[in-house]
Amino acid sequence: MRPLKATINHQALLSNLNCVKRIADKSKVMAVLKANAYGHSLLNVAKTLRTSDGFAVLSIDEAVLLKENFPNHTVLLLEGFFDKAEVNVASKLGINVTIHNQRQIDFIDKVKPVIPINIHLKINTGMNRLGFMPAEINYLLESLASNPFIGDIVLMTHFSTADEELGVEKQLTVFNAIADNYNYPASVANSASIIRYPESNLDWVRPGIMLYGLSPFIDKSGIDIGLIPAMSLTSEIIAVQEIKAGDSVGYGLDFKSDKSMRIGIVACGYADGYPRHARKGTPVAIDGHLSTLIGRVSMDMLYVDISQIPQANIGSKVELWGEQVTADLVAQFSDTVGYELICAVSASKRVPLRSINA
Ligand SMILES: *Cc1c(COP(=O)(O)O)cnc(C)c1O
Repeated sequence: MRPLKATINHQALLSNLNCVKRIADKSKVMAVLKANAYGHSLLNVAKTLRTSDGFAVLSIDEAVLLKENFPNHTVLLLEGFFDKAEVNVASKLGINVTIHNQRQIDFIDKVKPVIPINIHLKINTGMNRLGFMPAEINYLLESLASNPFIGDIVLMTHFSTADEELGVEKQLTVFNAIADNYNYPASVANSASIIRYPESNLDWVRPGIMLYGLSPFIDKSGIDIGLIPAMSLTSEIIAVQEIKAGDSVGYGLDFKSDKSMRIGIVACGYADGYPRHARKGTPVAIDGHLSTLIGRVSMDMLYVDISQIPQANIGSKVELWGEQVTADLVAQFSDTVGYELICAVSASKRVPLRSINA
């Protein structure tokens, strides 16, 4: 069998959840499990994180699966209904839905569900992605409060710069100016905001990336902020090449050696979710020793320098990312964020996922 696999450390997931609870100790925690739990396997992660108060996902199918397995958890559809047929499913199972446009309210009014639907009303406080404009909320809430098909209401927004210098202050001020007029519970904080802005940890918090042990910040790793990366992507060296000065490795001539080198060929490529744009020098661990990537990542293979690791050979263990080499760091070398890396592995559908410490 191909030696590439992703291993999910469930003790790490739990430890990260407890970190959220310590920081946001007065808030209910809605664990964000979209994208197959950021590539960590939806139901397995939900089971480990069942000491949270709720789960948030994208599709009605994921929500149904969670509600069937965890009937006492609040389960939220993060983008709400995509079509009318989803209204009755949500109503029957007690799935909460985000409402971010009038069309979704029209779906509910047309279907007239027997059991009222609990909603998260999304306010666009400046991200300009989803949500109603602040000026619409007063009027909307008046009609929603008297709508027999609508149950409990939570006010919600999402921050565009919680991880950047600008922060959340401006958006949070807009949100609070509305929310303070009502008695509805509020939900605004993602991971970056939970960590940086305690004042944003309201009735609910919505951690995603930090549960998986990665950092929402471009210049810090999850480990730097007390988290434990839950996913390790590991493989083995499947071939070794001895090259001379002037030789290149892999496609193109990007990498040309100026000395004799030993090169390990690793079973992992961009079709597995490893970033093709990872630069020369991207860290990788071989049998526990740090080394670096060279050449261009291929579809199924990549190349590592093992000149300084004489014992490395065919069969040597390779950590592409995990606790020694964090996905945060690999992402930095690839001009992307850890989020993209961990999701891509599961999206590739060809890397076996296994759980430990579950
Ligand atoms: C994905 C998502 C989150 C979680 O964000 P992280 O940065 O991963 O913590 C929270 N809220 C909403 C609406 C999201 O879409």
